[in-house]
Amino acid sequence: MGKRIGIDVGGTNVKIALVDEKGKIIYSHSVPTYAKMGYEYTVNNIKQSIRDLMKETNTNEKTIEGIGFDFPGQVDYKTGVVKLAPNIPGWVNVPIAKLIEDEFHIPTRIDNDVRCAALGELKFGAGRGCENFVCITVGTGIGSGLVINGKLVRGASNAAGEIGHIKLQMKDGPICGCGDTGCLEAFASGPSIVAMAQDYIKGGKSTKYRELVGVDGEITPYHVAKAAEDGDPVAKRIFEIMGEYIGIGLTSVVNLLNPEKIIVGGGVAECGDLLLEPIRKTIKQRAMVIAGETVQVVPAELGNSAGVIGASMLIDAN
Ligand SMILES: [Zn+2]
Repeated sequence: MGKRIGIDVGGTNVKIALVDEKGKIIYSHSVPTYAKMGYEYTVNNIKQSIRDLMKETNTNEKTIEGIGFDFPGQVDYKTGVVKLAPNIPGWVNVPIAKLIEDEFHIPTRIDNDVRCAALGELKFGAGRGCENFVCITVGTGIGSGLVINGKLVRGASNAAGEIGHIKLQMKDGPICGCGDTGCLEAFASGPSIVAMAQDYIKGGKSTKYRELVGVDGEITPYHVAKAAEDGDPVAKRIFEIMGEYIGIGLTSVVNLLNPEKIIVGGGVAECGDLLLEPIRKTIKQRAMVIAGETVQVVPAELGNSAGVIGASMLIDAN
């Protein structure tokens, strides 16, 4: 196995990396996405970045085995087309794999961000040696990549893994970004932490996170986490509630798939055991005994690099 290029396309920046056979990033740089300029503009910048990378690392189309793209949106893995990326306006039905292959004559694959993260964790992170695991990301939303029998699960139309839209409430639940109500993501994600934190303040609770941001400041999940780490009871309670919601959603997944591990990543997950402990506790209490005792809930290991590392591995994922 030789070197590969992994490209992580985000709403603000595109990160490009050369990754070796051990999953180590040898070289990386990033360019602005500038989605408002149209996708052709971004694609041209990406092409130039690939040329720069080859020049800097003394590589070429013969020594690079493959190129992989990680997109935060709906993609068609088989045809290499980005169908829709809500955070990157203008990227609708873009045949990115073909555009890159025609230019560089290097096999190119694409997949969504959570599946790339799961693939990265499988090859070089917390999923090494595991046959069955679920990699979830908790940030603005909740997504997941599933690995069953050592392989990524994509589903009939590339839409598998939408853990955030598991229903926790039959009717009258909070409204979700997907248009339905009562989804896990509507109860527990970055914005729900902030909403809960504001509700406690309105209810007259005195909290450390309010002191941290000041009266007019904007509360972020980071402030709530900081206050919880400092022992603030209100902030700790918010993470317990969040962890319980996520734990209940994951209980269904544990019962259904009997995974060895649940690997938790994403911005909110950086709060570590504050979030992971209530998730573990809820699964132990509520999952079927055998599956509940088997599963380990662990933090992701690749952090912000999961996207480029996972994308670089797409060339031999199936
Ligand atoms: Zn939903």
